[in-house]
Amino acid sequence: MANALDFSNTEIAFAGKTDQELKETLRLFKLMKNPNLVKLGSGLAMLMVRLKLPLMDPLIKATVFRQFCGGTNLLDCQTTIDRLYKNKTFSVLDYGAEAKDSEKDFDHTLNEILKTVQFAAANASVPVVSLKISSLARNAFLEKWQGKNPLDASEEAELAKIRKRLNRILHLASDMGVGVFIDAEESWVQDAMDTLVEELMEAYNKKKVVAYNTYQMYRTDRLEVLKKAFEKAQNRNYYLGAKLVRGAYMEKERKRAADRAYPSPIHATKEETDEAFNQAIRFCIEHYNRISSCNASHNMDSCQLMAKLITDKLIPRNHSHLNFCQLLGMSDNITFNLAYHGFNVAKYVPYGPIVEVVPFLIRRAEENTSITGEVGRELALIREEVARRGMK
Ligand SMILES: Cc1cc2nc3c(=O)[nH]c(=O)nc-3n(C[C@H](O)[C@H](O)[C@H](O)COP(=O)(O)OP(=O)(O)OC[C@H]3O[C@@H](n4cnc5c(N)ncnc54)[C@H](O)[C@@H]3O)c2cc1C
Repeated sequence: MANALDFSNTEIAFAGKTDQELKETLRLFKLMKNPNLVKLGSGLAMLMVRLKLPLMDPLIKATVFRQFCGGTNLLDCQTTIDRLYKNKTFSVLDYGAEAKDSEKDFDHTLNEILKTVQFAAANASVPVVSLKISSLARNAFLEKWQGKNPLDASEEAELAKIRKRLNRILHLASDMGVGVFIDAEESWVQDAMDTLVEELMEAYNKKKVVAYNTYQMYRTDRLEVLKKAFEKAQNRNYYLGAKLVRGAYMEKERKRAADRAYPSPIHATKEETDEAFNQAIRFCIEHYNRISSCNASHNMDSCQLMAKLITDKLIPRNHSHLNFCQLLGMSDNITFNLAYHGFNVAKYVPYGPIVEVVPFLIRRAEENTSITGEVGRELALIREEVARRGMK
């Protein structure tokens, strides 16, 4: 691609790591490349979580947790946040709870997220927090609601409580000038989540973007959904917040579709997913004055495409509506090279007690085996930097 940004500069990518840290990272990525080890480790970790046994905690903490999480609580994250900011990179704080099912858990998560918003408001380096609706609402309820099944009185009350929790978070975030990314999850609850997030966007995005929905471009219908969401935002006079991802639940989605004999909602090939993702990027940039977008991806071509479109259209690189984001501990070559060249870029910094972040960590470990993604891409870059530094 002409004028492409060079993401291969490993010196910029790993400038924040000492030789010792680089060595430890290399060791971890080598281990994660082994699918059998990842499968075994993931199974054991889930078992420990289910049995509430903290036996694996020290091991998890010294390996994947240290690579992919900011800490077990907000204060713990400060060092990571400061290190990123030194390299012109923002942080998106993400309390790691997901798929909860009791009112007590939901209230606990709500309080944590409110604290995260306050923490973000006090840190110029944390413009946005993220949340998962499944940490504030029962999936079984969302699935029923999505299926357009009539709700009884207690379910209507449950829905009112979900709306109340989300509004408390968005209200505080709006008052304090903090953005909120709302993650996308499984297709059987996503339409219900979309309804809730569109209500939030209509309520809080009139003057600027506070609430962002997430669009998973591995789904065959999402480009249309994104365009319709934009049309609605235009008609009702609010800004659209659009975080674009490829999607993290492909195996699960395909399996469920096959088991229940309905057509898979996922594109048949990686190329189709890539094409849809890149079209979504083009669409958001085309309408950047009314859409604030975030390219949340580790894919070099998609990041290069967006950087090139911004440059070619002579839009200021640090325009607040044009953002990139990668996960902490992954694709540092993309993040820090984008930051070096003046683009808005952030890392997702998940935090929370080990037991909360295990499902997230398992998804990261699986992504770095040979099962999905660009095989060994992280490992190759780390090896290159080790060689460049002349380390043994
Ligand atoms: C900041 C950030 C926030 C995120 N938030 C969310 C979120 O809210 N919800 C969510 O679901 N995920 C989220 N993700 C994860 C994301 O969806 C991807 O799983 C992950 O980033 C890998 O995709 P990629 O674009 O980085 O790169 P790539 O490695 O280029 O793409 C891998 C992805 O392509 C798709 N894919 C792979 N093989 C095929 C195939 N054969 N057919 C069709 N599609 C295929 C899958 O989605 C796979 O994950 C987030 C990622 C980031 C960086």
